[in-house]
Amino acid sequence: MPELPEVETVRRGLSPVMEGFDFTKVILNRPDLRFPFGDDFKARVQGQTLGRLSRRAKFMIAELGSGDRLFMHLGMSGRFTIDRDYAPGDFTHTHNTNPKHDHVIFEMSSGHRVVYNDPRRFGFMELIAPGAPSRLDDLGPEPLSNSLSAPVLRKALKGKKNKIKTALLDQRIIAGLGNIYVCEALYRAQISPKRAAGRLSVAETESLTGHIKDVIAEAIEAGGSSLRDFANTDGNLGYFQHSFDVYGREGEPCKTCQSSIVRIVQTGRSTFYCKACQG
Ligand SMILES: [Zn+2]
Repeated sequence: MPELPEVETVRRGLSPVMEGFDFTKVILNRPDLRFPFGDDFKARVQGQTLGRLSRRAKFMIAELGSGDRLFMHLGMSGRFTIDRDYAPGDFTHTHNTNPKHDHVIFEMSSGHRVVYNDPRRFGFMELIAPGAPSRLDDLGPEPLSNSLSAPVLRKALKGKKNKIKTALLDQRIIAGLGNIYVCEALYRAQISPKRAAGRLSVAETESLTGHIKDVIAEAIEAGGSSLRDFANTDGNLGYFQHSFDVYGREGEPCKTCQSSIVRIVQTGRSTFYCKACQG
């Protein structure tokens, strides 16, 4: 599942071919993804200029000339590809191995075709009218922004009786932090995922805040390296090889103490950690 760094990498990949350009043509190959597009989707996007392509949590946000905002979420399996060598009007041309899942095609005035492919269709696109409430309204601070600091996190966790692992996945506490990076940050901060969220010390909260920012920043940097190679690839954006300290490493040795990494399930999600280092 794409997490914040993957979404940011996709945004950076799409930006040069989308920002400042017009949506020349919008093709929807089905009426819905996770949610229906709505009857007026095509009319509200086609012909519009995309001013700025930003990101908040795991949402990409295209600001349209009309004032509408187009939210794009990759869900579980969504990916964007950039097609440079298509013939206009030829919609059979694709770089995807499973073109039947090419659900949305944007032809941009930059001369590129941006294709959204999503086999599982947990992703979605949604138009938000100017001033209308949106899914972004209740989100907590962005992990890399100055609005996330140790005092802010400490205040958000105060009195929380649930486990720190679970609390950190709450998007109202920190926006866009997902399962992988929560496991990695807790490992680096040497905090057990089973600790009560409201019982961390000041020093632990400071350490945790720093490590959350570090793991996200490093993953975005890794994504950036994948983008530099991207010019010569098949145009697929956003999924890159990345190695983790604990995530997905059940039974393998801890990189610090050689104990076996264990996997437990917390609120339905896998948690990977080192019992010795995160006692
Ligand atoms: Zn260890």
